[in-house]
Amino acid sequence: MTIFSKIIAGEIPCYKIAEDDRFFAFLDINPVQPGHTLVIPRQETDYIFDLSDELIGEMMKFSKRVAAAIKQTIPCRKVAMAVLGLEVPHAHIHLIPISTEGDMDFRHKQEIPADEMAELASRIAANFS
Ligand code: AMP
Repeated sequence: MTIFSKIIAGEIPCYKIAEDDRFFAFLDINPVQPGHTLVIPRQETDYIFDLSDELIGEMMKFSKRVAAAIKQTIPCRKVAMAVLGLEVPHAHIHLIPISTEGDMDFRHKQEIPADEMAELASRIAANFS
């Protein structure tokens, strides 16, 4: 079971943003920017491009809804999207609010206090539809 499956199962806590029958979204614990969110499929697959055409398409649609909620919540020019997958072997899309190219530097991660993370998550979640 991957660490992300444990999050879905509620065995590891997370700052949840949204979920449906196939996908789950939560704040990245070491964000590149406040509001940095991960979207994952419930299905445990390591490499995102191993997902079926159907599932990867639906994952993009779910991510679009999450990105809209982030954009409504966090002042930014755009919500950027990235897929790395070098650390956790469970496919995930990073959604990061940015205003400049430098806002998306994976070498500089932040630590945001728990109460601020919880507040961010609930504000983004409230704008999810
Ligand atoms: P990568 O696999 O290279 O895309 O990176 C995995 C991402 O997952 C990193 O940005 C981590 O900060 C994030 N991450 C790892 N464990 C957790 C967790 N328990 N909760 C939230 N985010 C996590």
